[in-house]
Amino acid sequence: MKTLKERILQDGKVLGENVLKVDSFLTHQVDPLLMQEIGREFAQIFKEEGITKVVTIEASGIAPALFTGLFLNVPVIFARKQKSLTMKEELLTTEVYSFTKEVTSTVSISKKFLSEQDNVLIIDDFLANGQAALGLTALCKQAGAQVTGIGIVIEKSFQSGRQLLEEKGLRVASLARIASLKNRQAQFISEDE
Ligand code: 5GP
Repeated sequence: MKTLKERILQDGKVLGENVLKVDSFLTHQVDPLLMQEIGREFAQIFKEEGITKVVTIEASGIAPALFTGLFLNVPVIFARKQKSLTMKEELLTTEVYSFTKEVTSTVSISKKFLSEQDNVLIIDDFLANGQAALGLTALCKQAGAQVTGIGIVIEKSFQSGRQLLEEKGLRVASLARIASLKNRQAQFISEDE
């Protein structure tokens, strides 16, 4: 997606050799117009798949997931990283190791929001080693729901996430695929121009 890649080049900050900071438009301050375009793009990619729910993980997946749900006209569920006092019902839970925070946390979704009838599109802000997407897939499977696709805003293709997910038979669609962050510069994989 051209506008997304231009924005990454303009506002993204490379930390070390493998972390991209995009807190001015995606992970802290959020650009609603860009999110709208991202949601429209994911909806376009997955429109023939009969998606019934969009599933993401708090916090940075919520904005792109919400616009995707808007354009697909389906509800959006975000997995919670901390159990809330108001979550008294039965939960689907799994452990997810966070690439950026370097901690494992228990993430959960209330059972009542997913069932065998659901056909899920998972959305997340980044794909690194695939642990977040894999955890969300595990939650959907616990509910008996089908995961039809994984939509990623920014994929770091030099990490192992895509391979891991594809080996499990999951379809991954990313709007910007980064081949390298060397020399503090994002280099994109050219096929998604
Ligand atoms: P994974 O689970 O695929 O290893 O990592 C994906 C998760 O880690 C995303 O949900 C995202 O929050 C975070 N993440 C991974 N890499 C980056 C990065 O380069 N920048 C930012 N801001 N978050 C990242």
